[in-house]
Amino acid sequence: MFDVYKIREDFPILNKKVNNTDLIYFDNAATSQTPTQVIEVISDYYKNYNSNIHRGLHSLSADATDKYENSREIIKNHFGASHNHEIIFTSGTTHGINIISSGLESFLSSDDELIVSEMEHHSNIVPWQMLCKKTGSKLKVIPITDEGTLDMDKFKSLLTPKVKFVFINHVSNTLGTVNPIKEIINLSHRNNSKVLIDGAQGAAHIKINLKDLGVDFYVASAHKLCGPTGVGFLYGKSELLKSLPPYQGGGEMISNVTFEKTEYADLPHKFEAGTPNISGVIGFGAAIEYMNSIGFVNIEKYEKNLLDYATENLKKIENIKIYGDTENKISVISFNVGNNHPSDVGSILDQFGIAVRTGQHCTQPIMDRFNIPGTIRASFSFYNTKSEIDLFIDALKKATKMLG
Ligand code: PMP
Repeated sequence: MFDVYKIREDFPILNKKVNNTDLIYFDNAATSQTPTQVIEVISDYYKNYNSNIHRGLHSLSADATDKYENSREIIKNHFGASHNHEIIFTSGTTHGINIISSGLESFLSSDDELIVSEMEHHSNIVPWQMLCKKTGSKLKVIPITDEGTLDMDKFKSLLTPKVKFVFINHVSNTLGTVNPIKEIINLSHRNNSKVLIDGAQGAAHIKINLKDLGVDFYVASAHKLCGPTGVGFLYGKSELLKSLPPYQGGGEMISNVTFEKTEYADLPHKFEAGTPNISGVIGFGAAIEYMNSIGFVNIEKYEKNLLDYATENLKKIENIKIYGDTENKISVISFNVGNNHPSDVGSILDQFGIAVRTGQHCTQPIMDRFNIPGTIRASFSFYNTKSEIDLFIDALKKATKMLG
């Protein structure tokens, strides 16, 4: 049984006072909060078996290695990869994208084209621009419709034989739009183009199966999934990861080193040079287990309910404009009220203890598309409540009144 008040007891931070009022945390798209179950697993590592992995033969090291590798197993199972070695631990989504962009350097030339969309996070734009600069390849952009969805007709027309790669987010962090990634993957594969999906937002709200999806690469961050910051994963199909060069050289990623010749380790270690974020990886596994104990079906259903309730009530506010008001979206609402600057509204909401994000949300092209300086973004998680939304709507009305 899904009981939000019981779930809230797992999150100590939700008892916090901000500006003398109860915290209302609606910035979950930036980072989610961490339950005690995950905090304790991280603390247990430092208290009881803090040690480096894959190196020592001693008991502590063996324990840390087992738990680190167990997280790989949890993540492989949760996301439905075929093999553990297809899961590479990274410092997050951005790191995963950069591993691929740097790896592709020797495979691309000025004859090749890459596709991104206008609704990408900067971390799924800038690495490809840098790659194009180095290789001479051309970056093409799928536009956004007025409703905040991808213009799929335009995508089909951009998908020429020259296109080698398509880079798309699963869910837009600014608009909340859920993109038709299965269709994009199928169309791209028919065109012999490979696909990387930025799952930073999608993974936190939608249960996926990488094998069924057939995607070539998928990246995500633990901190959007109730896990710690500074850790995430890159999924890649075995044969593709094997064909890419390592991203960094160092310890852990080799099998044999002499001054004449170095041989690289097999997957996944080839891409995990140096001492990784051991406690973070173990905490990531605990976070996935925690979310599964609540159940993604329950999470999706409950968050949809919060989204509908908030959207309905926000629309009653005069001069409100919601960006990305589409049917297929997750619990993220970007909006503006009249001509008020988003950061002015955000500062007043903070005085009421309400955390929302304001600005461009690392998606400047979306702001340019809608010709706005930024938005106010409220993003809900399964531990938020309708009464928090009521308080938020009240505070928003007060804020816009204060600003005139
Ligand atoms: N892509 C999307 C869609 C995101 O929302 C984010 C985080 N805001 C990122 C990429 C980057 O994630 P990270 O900062 O964890 O690397």
